[in-house]
Amino acid sequence: MESEKFPICAFRTMRPVWQLTFENARKASRIMRALTVVPGVPNSARLDDIPEPLNADGAVLVQTLMIGVCGTDRDIVSGRYGSSPPGRERLVLGHESLGGVLSAPAESSIVGGDLVVGIVRRPDPVPCSACACGEWDMCRNGLYTERGIKHRNGYGAERFRVEPEFTIALGPTLGDVGVLLEPTSIAAKAWDHIDRIVTRSRCWRPQVVLVSGAGPVGLLAQL
Ligand SMILES: [Zn+2]
Repeated sequence: MESEKFPICAFRTMRPVWQLTFENARKASRIMRALTVVPGVPNSARLDDIPEPLNADGAVLVQTLMIGVCGTDRDIVSGRYGSSPPGRERLVLGHESLGGVLSAPAESSIVGGDLVVGIVRRPDPVPCSACACGEWDMCRNGLYTERGIKHRNGYGAERFRVEPEFTIALGPTLGDVGVLLEPTSIAAKAWDHIDRIVTRSRCWRPQVVLVSGAGPVGLLAQL
């Protein structure tokens, strides 16, 4: 997708500049730009003006710096995947995020100016046994929700809110590369599981690993 269709990419700037950018944003109107789509309707993606993030989305207010676009986003834009928040027609896209913190609760470990990424999935409300122990990526009943994908607006807006416990702070030197944290976490999880499987054997020491699939996540895993 060409960047000119997604003006949010204009926020691909380093800290000194984006600090100025979000200072201006604070003074702006209560409307912001967002990438939205009607799930199930092919090619319905567009740039919309929407209200500022709802407080209910989380206590950490973030200025978006970059948004990653992956195969899931392409599927959503193609109408093959995704679902809007309850009662809404359109879904705000974007689950691979990178932003700078505008404000955060004093009691949290997140502070203004931090470079952060928002976690995508939220546990199901039941919860199932996996969600109950914090492994919501293993959700067993499918009632989980996901930012920018399933029943929750995503991070593809000029600003977003996220709960402190679903906010990952990055080292400031990581810069733009931080937008790869979410897809890299998938590869890291795969390696974590491989390690656990390997340790079941006292003698098996694999020297070669086959990564099936040639998509970006597969390539990340090979790195
Ligand atoms: Zn669950």
